[in-house]
Amino acid sequence: MENYKVLSVIGEGSFGRALLVSHLNNADKYVMKEIRLPKSSAAVKESRQEAILLAKMKHPNIVKFQEAFEADDHLYIVMEYCDRGDLLETIKLQRGKLFPEHTILHWFVQICLAVQHIHEKRVLHRDIKSKNIFLTQRRTIKLGDFGSARVLSSPMAYACTYVGTPYYVPPEIWENLPYNNKSDMWSLGCVLYEICTLKHPFQAGSWKNLIMKICHGTYSPLPSQYSYDLRSLIKQIFRKDPRQRPSVNTILKRRALLKMVNLCVSAQLDDPSGLPKDESASIIHPMKEQQETPPDVQQSSSPASGRRQWEKGATGTVLNVLENASILTSSIKANRSVGGHVIKYDLKEKRKDWDKEAPESLLNILNNLDLCSAFKTYTIYRPKASEDCLKGPLFNNTKAPDATDSREEEIYIDPDRLQPRSDDEDTDFEEDEVDPDWVSELQQWTDSQ
Ligand code: ADP
Ligand code: MG
Repeated sequence: MENYKVLSVIGEGSFGRALLVSHLNNADKYVMKEIRLPKSSAAVKESRQEAILLAKMKHPNIVKFQEAFEADDHLYIVMEYCDRGDLLETIKLQRGKLFPEHTILHWFVQICLAVQHIHEKRVLHRDIKSKNIFLTQRRTIKLGDFGSARVLSSPMAYACTYVGTPYYVPPEIWENLPYNNKSDMWSLGCVLYEICTLKHPFQAGSWKNLIMKICHGTYSPLPSQYSYDLRSLIKQIFRKDPRQRPSVNTILKRRALLKMVNLCVSAQLDDPSGLPKDESASIIHPMKEQQETPPDVQQSSSPASGRRQWEKGATGTVLNVLENASILTSSIKANRSVGGHVIKYDLKEKRKDWDKEAPESLLNILNNLDLCSAFKTYTIYRPKASEDCLKGPLFNNTKAPDATDSREEEIYIDPDRLQPRSDDEDTDFEEDEVDPDWVSELQQWTDSQ
């Protein structure tokens, strides 16, 4: 900490704060995430996952990890500073003017290359959204915020919890079905749709309708200026059945993207400055001694500590903020204050365990929440496979979303979403063996801390 000077606070959440800092030796700017460490050793391990996973990701399109350390009950993660802000801010600045298709494809391919890198390592990001995608002066895209990311070591490893942002959460989560790499692909589709239309694909006046729109795949078509291929790409990514949804490898092999993929990859080969100079040097140091986690504490059932949790919002009406609203009006603004001013974080949010609620009460809780909250990251506790409380309202109700939400000029319900697709190469994680080296290496590393 003493090696850095705090310049400003650039973000604040339940985890703690994100600080813009400069290194005292070289004056380079970095982002330092200051994460309050929870009390239990299992939860502490969980907090460290973000640093561990970020350190493991070495790709020009992923925010570069610098170092991490612990001091005064806080974990500090120092990473590359992306000086052009996030993709959501960039979309806002357009003020309704659509991006050219070339720009969209340039960004999308870079995000896909980042996702390909993490999926190759069996890591799910679980919170892909325009707010977690950053830009640099050199117009390079960087995927960041690995606070929700997890290694998918077995199909059942995370069956009970999902961390994500409701607007970007795929249908399988709401319908309590297993999830895997294809869930990230859905969120990626939401980002692609946002950069094409400057709006979020699934907008609704209530939580119920938001979830139903996601589950029915109801979204307005892309503006006509975009190519057939871009439209069909969105259509495929928004397939309800994750098995029919393309993987990132399949997307990157599309003929229409090949030129852009080659362009991005060769630019990265020509200028590998996005990669850490000494890949072996960038691992966390010094961690305090921590108690071993009892063997019966399962990762899948422990909460993702420090992340925002569902909370009962102020009572009142269900807000209609998203009806006809662009994503711009409902985004969460980063808190910027100058000169290293410290804003004390107040931990007053209470976790809401969904699995204890009947379906109706779940929707009541949601209805009392400001819909703007759907842009924040949450831990969603899912019922065990035998219980189907989340299935209830969505599973039985096959009606189209209600009239209030269907007022958009043109609604597109894709009939192909349920059509089977034969793409044998497009495997899900579960179908493969887990890369033993990566998982055991990570396990050894976390166990040694
Ligand atoms: P969380 O979403 O969990 O609050 P993030 O890692 O997304 O945490 O960081 C919080 C905020 O800090 C972001 O919304 C963004 O404004 C800023 N931020 C985070 N990482 C970077 C980065 N590498 N470069 C620039 N700004 C960043
Ligand atoms: Mg974030």
